[in-house]
Amino acid sequence: MPNDDILRIEDDSDDLHANADAGCWKLLIVDDEPDVHSSTILAIGRETICGRRLRFLHCHSCAEAKALLTTNADIAVILLDVVMESERAGLELIEYVRDELEMTDTRIVLRTGQPGYAPELDVIRRYEINDYKSKSELTRNKLYTTITSAIRSYAQIRALQMSKRGLEAILNASKGLICLREYDEFVSGIITQLAAFFSVPEEGVVCVRKHTDARSKDSHFRVVAAAGRFRHFINQPVAELSNPAIVEAIEQAAANRLHQLSPDYTCLFFESPQLGEMIVYLAAGPHDEGQSSQLLELFSTNIAVCIDNVSALNELHLAAYNDGLLRIPNRQAFLVEVERHLAQGTNQSMVVLIDIDEFAALNDTIGSEQGDRLLMAVRDRLAQQLPYALMIARIAGDTFGVLVETDRVDLDALDHLFLAPFDLGEQSYMLSATQGRVTIEDQAAATEVVAQANTALKRAKHSVRGGHLGFSAELLDDTERRVQLLQRLRRGHEANQLSLAYQPKIRLKSRQVCGFEALMRWRTGDGEQIEPLEFIPVAEASGMIVVLGEWAIQEALKTACELNTNSQQLMPIAVNVSAVQFRHPGFVELIDRALEQTGADPSWLELEITESVPMHDLDMVRALMSHLSERGIRFSIDDFGTGFSSLSYLEQLEIHSLKIDRHFIANLEKQPPQTRMPETILRLAQVLDLEVVAEGVETEAQAQWLEQAGCDIGQGYLYARPLASNQLMSWLSDWAEK
Ligand code: C2E
Ligand code: MG
Ligand code: MG
Repeated sequence: MPNDDILRIEDDSDDLHANADAGCWKLLIVDDEPDVHSSTILAIGRETICGRRLRFLHCHSCAEAKALLTTNADIAVILLDVVMESERAGLELIEYVRDELEMTDTRIVLRTGQPGYAPELDVIRRYEINDYKSKSELTRNKLYTTITSAIRSYAQIRALQMSKRGLEAILNASKGLICLREYDEFVSGIITQLAAFFSVPEEGVVCVRKHTDARSKDSHFRVVAAAGRFRHFINQPVAELSNPAIVEAIEQAAANRLHQLSPDYTCLFFESPQLGEMIVYLAAGPHDEGQSSQLLELFSTNIAVCIDNVSALNELHLAAYNDGLLRIPNRQAFLVEVERHLAQGTNQSMVVLIDIDEFAALNDTIGSEQGDRLLMAVRDRLAQQLPYALMIARIAGDTFGVLVETDRVDLDALDHLFLAPFDLGEQSYMLSATQGRVTIEDQAAATEVVAQANTALKRAKHSVRGGHLGFSAELLDDTERRVQLLQRLRRGHEANQLSLAYQPKIRLKSRQVCGFEALMRWRTGDGEQIEPLEFIPVAEASGMIVVLGEWAIQEALKTACELNTNSQQLMPIAVNVSAVQFRHPGFVELIDRALEQTGADPSWLELEITESVPMHDLDMVRALMSHLSERGIRFSIDDFGTGFSSLSYLEQLEIHSLKIDRHFIANLEKQPPQTRMPETILRLAQVLDLEVVAEGVETEAQAQWLEQAGCDIGQGYLYARPLASNQLMSWLSDWAEK
C-alpha cells in the first residue's frame, strides 16, 4: 500500500535472504506414493503464484505430517492424500490440523488415488476442505489452477487476520505505553511494543536528538534505550556505535525524516517540540504483507500521541523540580531531598540557606541579563566550593539552599564562599551573602527545617548581614506571633468576623458565568483585614481549619442555594479544602451534614484541593473522592503545576478540572511560547479529558491567549474581584447586561 510517510527499502535478493521463507508460499505434500511428490514439483515447482515462489515440504504418512505441522504454522496449502497408513489417515490429519492445532488459515486440497473413493461429505463440510480431486484428474493445468485458488484464499484470510491482529496490537501498545509515566520506562516500552507488534524478539534501540542540538554543529543522536543484543549501546552517540548497519539505518531515517521499512530492520521516525527527534530502530522488518503501511502508520501515530503525553509530563516534572534559569533543583526538590534525608535518619546534617545581599538593587543597576549571569556564577561557585553537598538548590530569587552532612562540611569554606569576586568576563563583581543554618536532628518535617533556616536567615539579615546565624529557640518569636494570631482567629471566628467572598468563573468562549469560588475573609474587630495567606496556614497547622472549613462549606452551600434555586443555569460554588481537612476522619459526614442542613444539591458544590492532598495517601484519597463524586460533588486541583511528586494520581482520581496557578498566567507574556507552562497543562488536560480553569486572569491579552490555547474557563480581576455575598445578585445582572 503506498504511503507518503513510509519508505520501503525493497530487498532484491529474495531467495538468498536469510529469511527466505518470508518470500515463499509453503506447500506441504502428504502422500505415501513417492511419485506424487516428484510429479507435483515437476508440474508446478517453478511457478510463481500471487507474486511468490513455492516452497515444498514433504511427508509420507499422517504421523510424519503431524510432527512436522506442530513446528510449521505458516503452511499455505496442504496437498493431502486420503488413504495412507490407514484408510482414514488423511481425514485424521485434517481433524488434527483444524481441531488440535487450530490452524484454520491453511488451505487443504484432498487427493485420492482410488477413483470413485470420496471422503465422507460431512468431513469436507466440517473442515473447510478447499478441493477434492482424484490424482488422475489433476493434470498440470488443473493442479496449477487448484493451487492458485487455494493460495489466493489463504493470502486473503491471512491479510484479514493480520490487520485484525495489528489493530489489537496497536490498541494494546497504546494502552501499555499510556500508563508509563516515566520517560525511561516509556522509551524502552516502545521497543517492547513494536517488537510485539511485529511478533519478533525485542532487539533494538531508541535514540533521540534534542531540537536545540539540531541547530548546533555537533548535533547528534544519542541512544536513550536499548534492548536485547544492543543493550550495551545505551547512552552512546549513534555515530559511535560499533554496528555500521544500525548507524546507516538511523542516519538514513534521520535524513529522510520518514519511517523506514526494510526486510531486516524497521526505523520509525518521530518528532515532537519537547522531545526533538526520536528514532526507534528494531532489528527486524515487518515480515508479513498484512502488516500494511497503513497499520504501521496507525501504530506510529498512536506512539506519537503517547510521546506528546509523556513529554508533557516530563516537562511538568522538570518545571516542578528544576529551576528554569539555573538548571539546578528548586525549592520543591530541595524539600523532597531534605525530607528523604530526614526519613533515612542516618547522618546528622545541616541545611544552609544562602541569600545574596542587596541582589534586587544590583539586578536593577546591572540589568536582569547580567543579574542572571551573576546567579549562574554563584551557582558554579557553590558547586565548586561545596563538592560534598548532598544538594544545592535555588530556593527563591537570590536564595540558595544547601544540604550537607555535618561531619563533612568545611565551615571555613562555607564562611568564605563570597570572598573572591565573581568574574563575568569583561566585568567582575564583589558580592556578599548572608546565611541561615540549621542542624537537622529529628525535626518532624522538611518544611519545618527549611522554615527554621529561613527564620535564622531573616534574623541574620538584620543583625549580621554578610555573616551567618544558626537557628535557635530565641528566634522563635515568629512562632509566638503565630500563637497569638491563632488565639485572635479563634475569638474572631466566635465573634463572626469571618466571611466568604465569591469570585466568579467565566467561560472564555461564551463569557457566561459558570460558577464561583468561595474565599475566606477576616476583618478583625478594629477593622484590620488579615489575608488568608497569613491566617490559613496558622489555622492549618493548629487543626483549627477543620472547624473553619466546616463553617465555610455550610456558608458556601447557603449561597449556592440562593444562586441555584431559581436559576436556569448550574452555578456550583467551589470551596477550598486543605489537606488537613481532607484527611480528617469526619470529612464525609461533615459534607453530608452541610448538604442536609442547607438542602443544597451536591452538584452545587465543588471542592478545590491542592496537589499535596493526593500525594500523601493515594488509596485513602481515591476512596474518599470516588465516594463524594458518586454523590455528584465535583473536584478540582488547585494551583496546578506548582509542586507535586507524582502525576499518576491524575488518572486515578475522579477529577473534573485543573486550575492553573495564577503565577503562570502572570508570566505568560514574558515567556517564549515553547516554555509556557499553561500550554503544557492544557495539553495534559486534553489527554486526560479535564476542564481547565486559569486563575488570576488580569488582562484581556491573557484571556485571549488562554482562549486560543484551548482553555475553558477564566477567573480573575479582569472579570471581578472576590465579591461579598450580598453583591452577587446585582453583579450577575450587571454582567448579563454587558
Ligand atoms: P486560591 O484558592 O488559589 O485562591 C485564589 C487567590 O487568588 C485568592 O486569594 C484570590 O483573591 C486571588 N486572585 C483571584 N483573582 C486574582 C487576580 O486576578 N490577580 C491576583 N493577583 N490574585 C487573584 P486569597 O483570597 O488571598 O486566597 C489565598 C489562598 O488562601 C487561596 O488560594 C486558598 O488556597 C486559601 N484559601 C482562601 N479561602 C480558603 C478557605 O476557605 N479554605 C481554605 N482551606 N483555604 C482557603
Ligand atoms: Mg482555590
Ligand atoms: Mg489557586
